Amino acid sequence: MNEFELIQQFFSGDPRAPGVELGVGDDCALLQIPQGQLLAVSVDTLVGDVHFPSQADPELIAERALRVTVSDLAAMGAEPLWYTLALTLPDADPHWLESFSFGLGAAASDFDIALVGGDTTRGPLTITLQVYGCLPPGGALRRDGAGLGDIVFVSGSLGDSAAALAAMKKELVVGGDDSAYLQERYYKPESQIAIGKALRGIASAAIDISDGLLQDLGHICRASDVAAVIEYERLPLSSVLRGSASEAQAISWPLAGGDDYRLCFTVPRDRLDAFENIADRYSFDLTAIGEIVAGTGVTCLKDGQVVKLAAGQGFQHFR
Ligand code: ADP
Ligand code: MG
Repeated sequence: MNEFELIQQFFSGDPRAPGVELGVGDDCALLQIPQGQLLAVSVDTLVGDVHFPSQADPELIAERALRVTVSDLAAMGAEPLWYTLALTLPDADPHWLESFSFGLGAAASDFDIALVGGDTTRGPLTITLQVYGCLPPGGALRRDGAGLGDIVFVSGSLGDSAAALAAMKKELVVGGDDSAYLQERYYKPESQIAIGKALRGIASAAIDISDGLLQDLGHICRASDVAAVIEYERLPLSSVLRGSASEAQAISWPLAGGDDYRLCFTVPRDRLDAFENIADRYSFDLTAIGEIVAGTGVTCLKDGQVVKLAAGQGFQHFR
């Protein structure tokens, strides 16, 4: 199969998606941004055996790749529109590609996001996805808006993806159902788009948790020139994590484990009523974990004592 057949068979995109004047097949895609909106753009590269196990089911690799990339749109409060795929493959295996493109399509339909272009090359397995979304001006959930006294929230549960990785590496022993739950959390992080959109005009700052809560909340604090104090006892941990992790793991995974792709955001106290209304209306799973204070950095208290993590605050490629 040559490069052009491969693109045509597996990555022909969705030429009838909203705003797509011209999709896959020409030198550029031509796209109509909804009138009066800002374009939100983000790109992620996932390298085999760095960001995911290369030998994993290609359907799951694709699901995860698109979900973690769209996570940045959710964290900005944007609505997904289009994406491009730059795919580097060791070889063109039709079975692998069939399964990969199926997973990609499944995640894309969940987000209502359309494939409009890409690039295909030979080399070590690497997936680069660029996502495009839109936002009303002034609606973006930036990192630099947290203020003193704001309440810090997270969505969903924390630490499950770190537990999933430990289970894959046989460092954690879990039963069949629990293993399936953790795999699902790692490979199919749930869409946070509805939460991000609902938080427009309510949250003062937001970020997606990709590298661990302490590190990512730290980015909000640095950008906003404030500090945060969170309480370990309030962190939302799944029953699977509670039931399987050691005491040390149950501390380090939620605080410093990467790959959760939940949202962390701050809400000013005078918007808490509006916030409760939307949280109830949509039945979002959101938990208050702490508060924004003066100073720098993120402090986590457990039984009133400051938690110190041996391994640092989260994932980094270059230390
Ligand atoms: P060019 O050489 O002009 O960059 P290519 O030959 O790389 O074009 O690609 C031809 C068309 O196929 C372009 O529209 C490009 O966006 C699209 N395309 C290439 N690879 C992919 C891919 N993996 N997924 C989606 N579209 C792709
Ligand atoms: Mg090209």
